[in-house]
Amino acid sequence: MRSETFHLIAGPCAVESREQLLDTADLVAAGGATMLRGGAYKPRTSPYSFQGLGQAGLEILAEARERTGLPIVTELLDVRNVEAVAEVADVIQIGARNMQNYPLLSEVGRTDRKVLLKRGLSATLEELVMASEYIRKEGNERIMLCERGIRTHETAYRFTLDLLAVPALQEMTELAVIVDPSHAPGRSDWVLPMSLAAAAAGADGLIVEVHNDPGEALCDGAQALEVEQFADYAERVQRVVEASHLASESCVSLS
Ligand code: PEP
Ligand code: MN
Repeated sequence: MRSETFHLIAGPCAVESREQLLDTADLVAAGGATMLRGGAYKPRTSPYSFQGLGQAGLEILAEARERTGLPIVTELLDVRNVEAVAEVADVIQIGARNMQNYPLLSEVGRTDRKVLLKRGLSATLEELVMASEYIRKEGNERIMLCERGIRTHETAYRFTLDLLAVPALQEMTELAVIVDPSHAPGRSDWVLPMSLAAAAAGADGLIVEVHNDPGEALCDGAQALEVEQFADYAERVQRVVEASHLASESCVSLS
């Protein structure tokens, strides 16, 4: 599924309200996003944190797709919601915490939706690829893999973004490899450098968190880009994508 087009998936961590999602969607669409992200069902560390709007969030996502034309990427947490999520999602996200939830993987394997499978917090690349096989085994080969940072001994940031996963997974599989530059830094000023590094490493796309009012976000606000910054961000990323293509072409012709 590797393609020439660079996927730039952008949007808030969670769908919080109609206004929040539609405002963000309009601006990321204008800024060059290729898909809109937003969780209606959120896997939160604390059961007392905002858990997402559920079905109401899915309906807002459907409206955003109608309005902007952007395909929707949204997370499926629970096999009981597969039909409702598949109805709205163009791409079903399986989050890091569910990478080895085998019944959930088999269930999305039986849908005809694309799947974005995120690497587990402590998963090896081999385990990620084997998890993708649970989806493929059921007949769904439309899978994108996502590096989102792993747990290491380092405590200076939330997770260690493992950019070697990009060339390694591209060698191990034919699947598109997407990088999430938001969850590892956990703060917005480190999102651009990680995005540029991912593009330079040859990633097939990025999934980045963007919010219309990060200070008031109910989930992952500290790492969200301000939506007004998005067009400039997208342009900078695009420059590195192009430079990276040119540089790797010249490598081929030199060899
Ligand atoms: C997310 O994309 O908002 C998310 C919860 O990601 P992860 O599963 O990688 O933590
Ligand atoms: Mn998030």
